[in-house]
Amino acid sequence: MTGRPVPEGALYYASSKRRRTVSIDGALRQGVEATALAVRGMLAAATLPPPLAGELAAQRCKGCSLKDRCQPEAGASPALEAVRAHLFDPDA
Ligand code: SF4
Repeated sequence: MTGRPVPEGALYYASSKRRRTVSIDGALRQGVEATALAVRGMLAAATLPPPLAGELAAQRCKGCSLKDRCQPEAGASPALEAVRAHLFDPDA
């Protein structure tokens, strides 16, 4: 808006009381634009992405404020996957 370059920003995590500096470059700007488009698409389609799984879940879910509601472990359960696979199959 001002025409001045913005080479970095900062995130403050209240739970850990830590401030993290983030470099703002072309790759980050492209990632933010792609993410904003994806979120707009999900809002327009009234859909939610599935919970994270595997290594991504291990990295990101631990500190997520939505973890109690999202329950990513439940989605990773083989028993739940088996039930879900036949949830709408009346012949199962
Ligand atoms: S707990 Fe948070 S980071 Fe993990 S899948 Fe759910 S919303 Fe995403």
